[in-house]
Amino acid sequence: MKYLDLHAHVLKYTYKDNYEKVIDDISNYDGAKIVNIALDYETSVEAVNLAKKYPHIYKVAIGVHPTSDLSTIDSDIPKLKKLYLENKELIIAIGETGFNEFEEDDIEYQRHAFMKQIELAQELELPLIIHSRNADEEVYNVFKDIKNLPTTILHSWTGGIEWTKKLLDLGLYISYTGIITFKNAEDVRENMYITPLDKVFYETDCPWLSPVPYRGKTNIPEYSIYVAKTIATHHNIDIEEFNKVVSDNFEKVFKNSKWLNESK
Ligand SMILES: [Zn+2]
Repeated sequence: MKYLDLHAHVLKYTYKDNYEKVIDDISNYDGAKIVNIALDYETSVEAVNLAKKYPHIYKVAIGVHPTSDLSTIDSDIPKLKKLYLENKELIIAIGETGFNEFEEDDIEYQRHAFMKQIELAQELELPLIIHSRNADEEVYNVFKDIKNLPTTILHSWTGGIEWTKKLLDLGLYISYTGIITFKNAEDVRENMYITPLDKVFYETDCPWLSPVPYRGKTNIPEYSIYVAKTIATHHNIDIEEFNKVVSDNFEKVFKNSKWLNESK
């Protein structure tokens, strides 16, 4: 059985002293296939290099996170483009990008970096992976007006249910993390309940957001199984069947990538 981790941050910056051990563990178990998500240009290069080296680091998303340094975004964009053109077989998305809960004077700054990365996704015909923290309405307002909307996944989505409905109506996909295993997260589970199976993904967002029974500990890609099981149980289907559904979704979003039956 293979599991997916649609959104991991296996990077030196995130795992610090545990980095070598995490890489070692990933290489020695037959668990989740990882889509490794960069946080800025430097970690985009790092993520690509890791994917070249380790079979379980399956694909990569490149981009600049809204909490990373956004002051160099205009010069980062051509560098990200070049990185993609040199590594087309490994890079499958732009992201994560979006809005993090912001101060008033910060929003235009974040919006500029977000729009630049949407344009890059459009130009390269790549899907987008979106980060949104307390920014439901702002995210919706960006997407409702876009012409040629790239295929888009809202990652670790925790927005209000009305916004969830509106964003699903625009055709967006939603990926859930270990938050849906938390006792006090019924509001996030309600989003999961209304997300159709053909729009759903699962992920860890490791090293953060460890699912129950590891809540509070450092998260690792193989814990994505707890997220997958929570969604499958809700839909009353077994895990193999659920993984086939997610694999079909993966193939639709990331053209030519099969995940479940592809070795690399
Ligand atoms: Zn993330």
